[in-house]
Parts: sequence; structure tokens; C-alpha cells
Amino acid sequence: MSPIPGSGLAKGLAVTLRTMTKKTVTAQYPDVQPELPPRSRGVIGLFEENCTVCMLCARECPDWCIYIDSHKETVPATTPGGRERSRNVLDRFAIDFSLCMYCGICIEVCPFDALFWSPEFEYAETDIRDLTHERDKLRDWMWTVPAPPALDPGAEEPKELGAARKAADKLAAAQEAENTPPAGGGGPGDEGGPASGQGGPA
Ligand code: SF4
Ligand code: SF4
Repeated sequence: MSPIPGSGLAKGLAVTLRTMTKKTVTAQYPDVQPELPPRSRGVIGLFEENCTVCMLCARECPDWCIYIDSHKETVPATTPGGRERSRNVLDRFAIDFSLCMYCGICIEVCPFDALFWSPEFEYAETDIRDLTHERDKLRDWMWTVPAPPALDPGAEEPKELGAARKAADKLAAAQEAENTPPAGGGGPGDEGGPASGQGGPA
């Protein structure tokens, strides 16, 4: 049977009309920024202070795209008769994002919480060599790492928070003790004075 003349046009118009009434799914990037989940894998930030140069991330990276250089430094003993220690000092930390496959293994294996995901993804380059981010750039990405989500109500406080609070309290107490003038403005001899005076008549 031959098709009714104009039926194809009617079908096409019906599809157009149906689509016009639906919510658009086209992302108007870069005019409109996408709303990404906070834990999106955009780029990796390095919190250098936490890095002990253990090399675990570089060893576990399946793409071998983490480059770390370091040297050893001797730390003198802190107590008389104590032993001096040696520690690793970071010289270079770089990630080649032209090789990285965003698996997240480096972040997972880091035992010292020195690597974090940032949702930033706008770092395309025209020169592939610029996709190797050195430590300063990796450190700058830390500013874009979102804060961790709030704990569930009634959840146990992480041990790190308790330890940090204890250290802050200790520091505050030490500072307060430093700033407080001695009682009575005198030396240790003054402490016994009034007390013995009060006890005298009895
Ligand atoms: S995300 Fe995966 S591929 Fe990328 S640097 Fe980390 S371990 Fe290597
Ligand atoms: S695993 Fe963590 S602490 Fe070890 S070298 Fe990598 S970033 Fe530094």
C-alpha cells in the first residue's frame, strides 16, 4: 500500500512538537557551569604537609604518572643522649594528567591523607607537557577541594578531631599561662605569706 501523501511530514512535525514540550537535556557549557557532585574526580590536590614521601602512591599508580624526588635529612636528637633521626624531604611531586586515568588508587592508598580529589576539571592545555602538574600547582588545587560531608547525627567523633582539639587546648593553656602575671606580683615566697598570716591567730 502506498503511503498517504504528507504522512511523513506529519510524523516529523509530531516528533518536533513532542520534543519541544520536554525539558531540555543539552548542557550549555561553558556558558552554564555543570552542577557536579562534590566528590567528582576532576583533578588531584596535594596537601604537602602530610606527605612523608613514602612513595606508596607512585608505586601503586597503574599508569606510572606520579613523579617523586626526595632526599634524606638528618634531624638532631631532641634529648641529651638521644639518637638523631633521618627524614625524607620532598624535592619534587608531579602528576602527569595526560596519562592519569582517574582511578583514584593513589588517593586510596596514601596512608597520610596527602592526596584529595577536587571537582575542578577546567585545566585543558594546548601543549600536552603542561598537563604535568608540579607540586605548587597540585598544592593550589587543594583550595578547590570541598570540605568533607557532615557526620551523621549521633556518629562517633573521628579520633583526629579529638586529638586536634586536645592539642589546641594544650596550646591555649600554655599561652594563657604565659600571659598571666604571677599572683600578687611577687615571687614564690609571697605565696606562703598570707596563708601563714591567716593561720597565725588560730
Ligand atoms: S588517579 Fe590513578 S592513574 Fe591517576 S595518578 Fe592516581 S593512581 Fe595514577
Ligand atoms: S602515598 Fe601519600 S604520603 Fe606517600 S608519597 Fe604519596 S602522597 Fe606522599
